[in-house]
Amino acid sequence: MTLLQFQIVSAQQDEFEIVTRNIANHLKQTTKVTTNDVLKLKQTQKPDGSWSDIDYGSSVITLWQPITHLQRIKNYAIAMNNEPNNKFNEQIVTGLQYWLKTAPKSKNWWYNDIATPLAIGEILVLLDETKFVYPKECKDSLLESMKRGDPYKEKGANKLDIAMHYLYRACASKDEKLMDSAVNQLFAPIEFSTLEGLQHDYSYFQHGKQLYLAGYGAVFLMGEYKAASAVRNTKFALSNEKQKLLHTYLTQTFLRAIRGRYSDFNIEGRSISRPDILDKKNAIPDGYAENMLQILAIAKSINPSDVTEIENAIKRINEVRPVSFGIESFHKQFYCADYTLHQRKNYAFNVRTVSSRTKRTETGNGENLFGQFLADGATNIQRTGDEYYNIMPLWEWDKIPGITSRDYVDNLPATIEWGENGSTDFVGGVSDGKYGCTAYDMNYNDVQAKKACFFFDKEIVCLGAGINSKAEENITTTLNQCWLKGEVKIGNNKLLLAETEKLENPSWIWHDRIGYCFLQNTKATVSANTQKGSWKYINKGYSDVTIEGKVFKLFIDHGSKPVNESYAYCVLPDISFKKMNKSAVNIDIVANNNDIQAAANNELKMLQICFYKPQTLVYKQLKITVDQPCLLFIKNIGKNQPEVWVSDPSQKLSEITVSVEVNNKTATKKIRLPDNENKGKSVLMN
Ligand code: CA
Repeated sequence: MTLLQFQIVSAQQDEFEIVTRNIANHLKQTTKVTTNDVLKLKQTQKPDGSWSDIDYGSSVITLWQPITHLQRIKNYAIAMNNEPNNKFNEQIVTGLQYWLKTAPKSKNWWYNDIATPLAIGEILVLLDETKFVYPKECKDSLLESMKRGDPYKEKGANKLDIAMHYLYRACASKDEKLMDSAVNQLFAPIEFSTLEGLQHDYSYFQHGKQLYLAGYGAVFLMGEYKAASAVRNTKFALSNEKQKLLHTYLTQTFLRAIRGRYSDFNIEGRSISRPDILDKKNAIPDGYAENMLQILAIAKSINPSDVTEIENAIKRINEVRPVSFGIESFHKQFYCADYTLHQRKNYAFNVRTVSSRTKRTETGNGENLFGQFLADGATNIQRTGDEYYNIMPLWEWDKIPGITSRDYVDNLPATIEWGENGSTDFVGGVSDGKYGCTAYDMNYNDVQAKKACFFFDKEIVCLGAGINSKAEENITTTLNQCWLKGEVKIGNNKLLLAETEKLENPSWIWHDRIGYCFLQNTKATVSANTQKGSWKYINKGYSDVTIEGKVFKLFIDHGSKPVNESYAYCVLPDISFKKMNKSAVNIDIVANNNDIQAAANNELKMLQICFYKPQTLVYKQLKITVDQPCLLFIKNIGKNQPEVWVSDPSQKLSEITVSVEVNNKTATKKIRLPDNENKGKSVLMN
């Protein structure tokens, strides 16, 4: 060996030592093991290395007990890392040998190909870190037993998990080639995709083109940050380019869909039916030991130059700062995902829709049993953050906030599993990054409606038109269904007295500092009733204990078999009762019919329009003509040169001609629309 060769070899060994240390440090930080814990283990372990409370012959598919054996050995290894004086040599070696001798197997491949090799890998790395001396054939046999699964053949979380145990094996065997392929596969998901995974609009899809910002999107963040932390400060480290993609997804998308410590219910996919899932302080994704706060701490250390947004989020999630802390005005239309985020210091108002390009929120594995209407324009309205936390077992599932639906007597079970395709093309939004509007051309379950939301600062205007159905049930549009907090006031200072009141042409309703103004004559029902349910009722895997609570519910009744019905209301997401009483909503409903929906905010001098057909709209001194269906957002109304944003929700057009006439001066522009992966994105007309 030449000197140069020797130096290369020794440098490589250093790299493996760094990775070993990184992994051991992470495991020490995320697995709390006390001396007492391991002393108890030592006392109960038999001389052959086994424990009598574990059924090593079990092959069940869930809660497979033999994996506990490896977790206990891992605890010894962590205890030795924590405190060098801890000695469990005999316990560890006999324990490992017992495992090799009995070779337990589950009927669930996930335990054999993922959980078991991951646990063995963690033990081997932890032992290496303490320079633990044990028989070479024991280590070799364990390394051999880890050769399970193929990351190249898997997608999403499974790919990450298998690549992770490849990385552990590469590290424990100092196999550079294996390390390269493990790292390659670990970081492969950090790139834009038009299938599943990270989308060009920085949304995240799983199980087809299905919105999954949390759930699988959270697992993606956890797996990648954990991997990035394992190989940091080595030549295997995450590239700057991929680090930026991951950081942008985390800070611009994921964290923005969380208010305080609670996520938007729209982003969880079928996990919406699991207890506590919205709580990002405590919820732990499937198969992980880490919670979101631990991952945010890693994310912060991976990108130390740009940590403000992560630090602010940690403070909000930990509730050491108010939910408004560090929140900037933000509006974004996710044109790949058919999802809108609208954020202000004092509230979040997000909308989930679906098109023929995307999928509805899935039902599957006995989870989310009534969730088929979740994508029909659901509006997540958060002020304090916990408005919907654990309300799901009690929900009336055809009255998800924001949706228009048939009103069934009992909740209607979903019949299509793993995501149902949307049915219409004209679904999307136009935005300048701070304001915007969203259109949802709905046709589902024999209910048709043109649903649009117009987003400003103090108010969000919701318009519905062309509401038709031939179904027997009444058709309703729900303004909200959230936890009851304090009094409900009905216009003119009247307190809600009965538990349910049917209202003829109400002017407004106020509850929990949120105002709901009706902008046209409406039949509405408001209630503050006790609702009951259980987690098992909406998700077969959970408890059937009855849960009950008081729920604020407000909906519009369009009657049975409506023909061309409509609605117009405005939500003021943070307003005192005193102000509400006097408040005059400074909004013009410029149009609300099957061909066009438009709202203007006089204070902000903004006009937002959904053109469902080529046509002309006249508003004050403005005359706007489009030659194609589109969405338009006009700012600086009253000025000679208004600012105009345009988008094509159908994502089918290549150009649109827009002409804007102000005080008899006309500007006409043929606008080229974004193509390929940017279809549906907003363009500034200039
Ligand atoms: Ca119902």
